[in-house]
Amino acid sequence: MSKHDPFQNVLKQLNEVNKIIDIPEDINTCFLSPQRFLEVSIPVKMDNGKVKVFTGYRSQYNDARGPYKGGIRFHPDVNRSEVKALSAWMTWKTAIVNIPLGGAKGGVIVDSKKLSDRELEHLSRGYIRAIYKLLGPSIDIPAPDVYTDPRIMGWMMDEFEKLEGAHAPGVITGKPLNIGGSKVREYATAQGAFYVLEEGVKKLGLGKNATVGIEGFGNAGSFIAKLLADEGYKITVVSDSKGKVINCNGLNIDRLIEYKNKNKTVVGFEDQNETGRCSYEDVDILIPAALEDSINENEAKKIKAKMIVELANGPITPEADKILFEKNILVVPDILANAGGVTVSYFEQVQNAYNYYWEEKEILDKLKKIMVKSFDEIWQKKKKYNTTLRMGAYVLAIERVSGAMKARGWV
Ligand code: NAD
Repeated sequence: MSKHDPFQNVLKQLNEVNKIIDIPEDINTCFLSPQRFLEVSIPVKMDNGKVKVFTGYRSQYNDARGPYKGGIRFHPDVNRSEVKALSAWMTWKTAIVNIPLGGAKGGVIVDSKKLSDRELEHLSRGYIRAIYKLLGPSIDIPAPDVYTDPRIMGWMMDEFEKLEGAHAPGVITGKPLNIGGSKVREYATAQGAFYVLEEGVKKLGLGKNATVGIEGFGNAGSFIAKLLADEGYKITVVSDSKGKVINCNGLNIDRLIEYKNKNKTVVGFEDQNETGRCSYEDVDILIPAALEDSINENEAKKIKAKMIVELANGPITPEADKILFEKNILVVPDILANAGGVTVSYFEQVQNAYNYYWEEKEILDKLKKIMVKSFDEIWQKKKKYNTTLRMGAYVLAIERVSGAMKARGWV
């Protein structure tokens, strides 16, 4: 069920939170669906001269704490439930890191790898034309997600500005640097996860010689691999949609990144050595950085890691989560672990609003402060309620969002 219906996972998680803090009924009712959900059809004239119509969505879950905020995913498996779920998780995420934003998410059903550059640009611009009335720096601010990138954000911002007849760089984040993007944004998600991973390592007393496995080697996965490798962690297994590479002595990440850029996959990387126990089941720290539901009950039973850092959104099913808790594995939940991306997106917006841009060090210092503080606040909730870090995160997020809803007189 959960595999095809991520929003059911959101509702199950809310039920779990209810067992801990008893969310007032009126507030809970508001959390059962997004505040607004839009489905659009986007016609694109393809290179063969024929028009193809793509389906896109935008889910605006909750804006009690500020304008909606959330990425746009281009993927063949995008569906209503997934977009709704991701928009709820964005709401909790912005609340956890305590930035003044709400939660949204968008998606288009498309295998973008099969489109030419021209078709991709037309689709990206068409999506913005279809939803632009719901967007704006103080309404809803999209960003990149799976298979969307700064180039696409640049097209999207340009399309929005053409429709508005004015510059509005704060309408979208994750833009290229030369049109209002922020330094650090490119690797912010991974950097934020790195900071909380290090907090977890301290709590568990793990050393830098810990072994690490990373599932997914895209934007998020490859940057955290680099950060960890540079810090001396041993990354023994990495995978992407085509397969995996293993080296029990530690993969050479710089060379693997080069290889992936050239070959579009990690598969076939020559530096392999499988003597020893260093697969996903054996590593000390596991980092899912691909798509939802990649760790199910069966996998959870096999995992021996001491810590899992959810760089992807929703990679562990609720059933698997219970098993991992019983096995005393520390799970740093997605809504904290990957919140570095949205935090620097927020910094990008602030810089756009001031039309004044910060240096890399200033951004890293600000990001670290927020991530470490959020980890501590969630750790306190975990201790107070004798629960998981995930539930601690949900409790903190829901208290903050509920507080804003009450202050606005919605409930
Ligand atoms: P991406 O498209 O750059 O990379 C996705 C990676 O996952 C690719 O390497 C792909 O080959 C791999 N993959 C797909 N299916 C796989 C499978 N079955 N097994 C192993 N690998 C598989 O996307 P991304 O931006 O890195 O996002 C990855 C995850 O991180 C998503 O859940 C996304 O929502 C989350 N996330 C990303 C950001 C960000 O700023 N990039 C921010 C927050 C959350």
